[in-house]
Amino acid sequence: MTESNSTKIQRSYKFRCYPNSIQRQQLSIEFGHARWVWNSCLAWRTNIYKVYGEKVTAIDFSRELTFLKQLDTYSWLKEASATVLNQKLRDQDIAFRNFFAGRAKYPKFKKKLHAQSIRYQLDQRIITNLYRAGEFIKLPKLGVLKLKWSRKPIDIPKVVTVIKDCTDHYFVSFMCEESIQPLPRKPNGIGIDLGVRDVVVTSEGWKSGNPKHLRLHARTLKKAQRRFSRKIKGSKRWHKQRVIVANVHAKVRNTRQDWIHKLSTTLIYQAGFIAMEDLNVKGMMANRRLSKAIGDVGMHDLNRQLEYKAKWAGTEFVQVNRWAPTSKTCSECSSVQETMPLSVRNWTCPDCNISHDRDVNAAKNILALATVGRIESYARGGVHKLEVVV
Ligand SMILES: [Zn+2]
Repeated sequence: MTESNSTKIQRSYKFRCYPNSIQRQQLSIEFGHARWVWNSCLAWRTNIYKVYGEKVTAIDFSRELTFLKQLDTYSWLKEASATVLNQKLRDQDIAFRNFFAGRAKYPKFKKKLHAQSIRYQLDQRIITNLYRAGEFIKLPKLGVLKLKWSRKPIDIPKVVTVIKDCTDHYFVSFMCEESIQPLPRKPNGIGIDLGVRDVVVTSEGWKSGNPKHLRLHARTLKKAQRRFSRKIKGSKRWHKQRVIVANVHAKVRNTRQDWIHKLSTTLIYQAGFIAMEDLNVKGMMANRRLSKAIGDVGMHDLNRQLEYKAKWAGTEFVQVNRWAPTSKTCSECSSVQETMPLSVRNWTCPDCNISHDRDVNAAKNILALATVGRIESYARGGVHKLEVVV
């Protein structure tokens, strides 16, 4: 395969970080000042919008910030790195853009108790002094940070995020552009049905299961949260329980993430063509049922991972963007049953006499829907897009 066959991807890396006590002190200044900038800017632009009906951006606030830094009362702002404060303002602009596009809620004020994160832009002109993969990373006002390099990135990051989570663990994360060689595409296609009993069932009859430990953790979390709510706010026990809740949270999140990653990878290598229902459509129909499976976040993570891993592997991933009665339709003869209660796991089509596993049948129908959409989109002569409106 030649170089021209390779695809450019953004791979994200996250490493545990161990700052020393001086670095922790500086980081707490950076986190605090960044939070102040975020909250002040948010209050400022919210107020201007309410009073004057005008939209201002973080760039406008950045001008104010330069002015403030020159005043004695605000000179403490200079203790933080300029790049950290600027990146925080940029993040807020992105948050507002997402809000205006209807992708996110109105940006919130940041609190000290939440996980903290700040970003550094790395000066690419002196990058060899700042970064060497697997060896060191050097940030303004902090110096060289000690990282646990669990993997060695190939390319150089442009922006680096430093995170402190609720349990006082530090992480460094960044994205790297990398080129990968897609594998030769498999000839088969599969449809995916999402559910609770099995998170994923494919048209070829493969079932993912729904591991109990995901649900067990959720129960532990609920218990810890209940205990937390009974403590007096701000008390010693309250703080102690807060850390416990955060730890359980992290554990739940990690286990789920881990499982979803394995699931999406398994699916990607099963076929050259993968079809799944659009989550927004599915969400409307069976929102509660699905979120019970691995949570809303989990479902969207699965979707997102399938999307980017498909690109990496050279697999075609299609989302069926239309609601269809996939469970009630016979995948053999297309006759539609009037009802199909959730309790029915197996059924025999009265018209063609073929027996069906409920979920496999639904997955077959999703594959068929996507295949029709694919042929239509080819016929229109345009470029075949990832998302197909059938
Ligand atoms: Zn039939």
